[in-house]
Amino acid sequence: MSTAYLIGKPVGHSLSPAMHNAAFAALGLPHTYRALEVDESQLRATLERWRGEDVLGANVTIPHKEAVLKLVDEVDDEARAIGAVNTVARKGTRLVGHNTDKYGFEQAVRSIRGHSVDDSGYPFVMDNVLVLGAGGAARACVLSLLEHKNGVLIANRDRARAQRLAGAMAKFDTYSRGIQVVPWSERGTVVDAVVNATPLGMHGEDPLEGAELPLWVVDLVPTAEETPLVKRARSREYGAVVDGLVMLLHQAARAFGLWTGLEPPLEVMRAALPRPV
Ligand code: NDP
Repeated sequence: MSTAYLIGKPVGHSLSPAMHNAAFAALGLPHTYRALEVDESQLRATLERWRGEDVLGANVTIPHKEAVLKLVDEVDDEARAIGAVNTVARKGTRLVGHNTDKYGFEQAVRSIRGHSVDDSGYPFVMDNVLVLGAGGAARACVLSLLEHKNGVLIANRDRARAQRLAGAMAKFDTYSRGIQVVPWSERGTVVDAVVNATPLGMHGEDPLEGAELPLWVVDLVPTAEETPLVKRARSREYGAVVDGLVMLLHQAARAFGLWTGLEPPLEVMRAALPRPV
């Protein structure tokens, strides 16, 4: 029996164990998935321990995705481009870093029907897509948006971190729609679409409280109840909404495939979520 972990802080709220444990059971695999709260100071030792244990790998969540990239033995091209690792797979004594957030984000935005504007089903080709946050998840979303010809604005509480992200991603802006940093205090400015890649919403906050919402609202925050932002966006008669649970499902499915080498039972994983998506 092998174990897969979720490491981060906090992890108690996570919906990932239910999905992965349901998938292991459905395929008759004797594995378990456990959430493990890990401080930054414990990260290196935790990863070190896994080399000699019966561990499939791990998901990495807030706030460790950028730090883990520097602690694994190998990093795949996508995780390297994003600059963050959200999935670790053990190959013998070596730990390999991957990133399934970009895939999860793309599957989630493609899941909205009737809005596709390119052959791949990607629904955004816009001048001003505002990304809230500049951490690991924001990095994956910004890369995806730039690859699909969007103009990106980044607003982050720590502006210097947003500037570092914009600088690192500038080379992917091959369609030259631009990547800019805007002050966190101006995140309510009217844009074409918004992607919330902060944890605001986890405890009932609305990161855009009081502001008019753009046509497209993507909230990465995966919660058992809809977040206030998702609720508010859904209450309109227009526009499209992407719920963090959909991204959670798809990033998890890809991680499952990386650990097991098997086709993930997507519908089993979907059914393990706390509400239909
Ligand atoms: P990181 O720790 O890498 O980044 C966190 C980001 O959120 C930073 O930009 C940070 O800003 C910002 N932030 C944190 N707290 C606050 C706050 N109180 N007010 C404003 N900004 C804040 O985390 P991740 O990027 O990995 O995750 C971000 C969110 O996205 C989490 O809620 C996570 O659950 C969600 N997520 C969902 C996924 C899904 O599949 N649905 C996948 C990945 C992430 P600063 O730099 O100023 O500290």
